[in-house]
Amino acid sequence: MKIKYIDVHSHMGEEIFDKDRDKILKECEEKGIFVINCGGTSESNRKSLKLLKYKNVNLNLGIYPVQAAEMSDKEFFEELRFIEDNKDKIVGIGEVGLDFYWITDDAKRQLEVERFKEIIWLANKLRLPLNVHSRKAEKETIVLLAKMAHVPVILHAFGGSWKLAKLGAAEGFYFSIPPNVIINKARQKLLKELPIEKLLTETDAPYLGPTKERNDPRNIPLVIEKIAEIKQMEVEEVRKQILKNTGDVFNIKP
Ligand SMILES: [Zn+2]
Repeated sequence: MKIKYIDVHSHMGEEIFDKDRDKILKECEEKGIFVINCGGTSESNRKSLKLLKYKNVNLNLGIYPVQAAEMSDKEFFEELRFIEDNKDKIVGIGEVGLDFYWITDDAKRQLEVERFKEIIWLANKLRLPLNVHSRKAEKETIVLLAKMAHVPVILHAFGGSWKLAKLGAAEGFYFSIPPNVIINKARQKLLKELPIEKLLTETDAPYLGPTKERNDPRNIPLVIEKIAEIKQMEVEEVRKQILKNTGDVFNIKP
């Protein structure tokens, strides 16, 4: 398959795709859309591995921050071990990060931070990029990564201000743009400011679509079109640049 587009962050293992996952991923293959699927729980990590049967799918395994804050020590370290044991099957660590939107308790936030540090150590050790969630914890996430991460960082669906995004951009972090940029003015504003060399495309499927409908990787070309419109560039030029950026982060040769 000739890769034309890459979705760097999706959740195609979710039950909502059980009925038509084959059809969607087949259509993606026909359109040259490559998909990086993210895990986040012990269940979704195992489900993700099954998606490797599709030629146009590659994986990130991770521990979602809300989950990380709720796991026992034993569960957490066993899952980290599981990720390490599968290191040859993955191209990155994700979905990981910090979430202070759902986790409001101070002690639990502290635990989230401690566990994220363990995850960053693992990514450094395995030399794998980090696919990062930072909801309502943008500053804390960027500061921690700037201090600790020695691998490429993707700030996925970044919801912070330009002031915060600038901190990440200064560290050389990448920003993956989801299809809801089409309807979300704040994301459009952020996109306008971010350098094209640091942009990637994602869907976070089934979430963050261009409408309220279920989202899937077939929407990636719409994101490319929106970036071209906002950056006042040719669509084809944007498509090629994003592919190049993705190749700089992940070991995937377009
Ligand atoms: Zn996600």
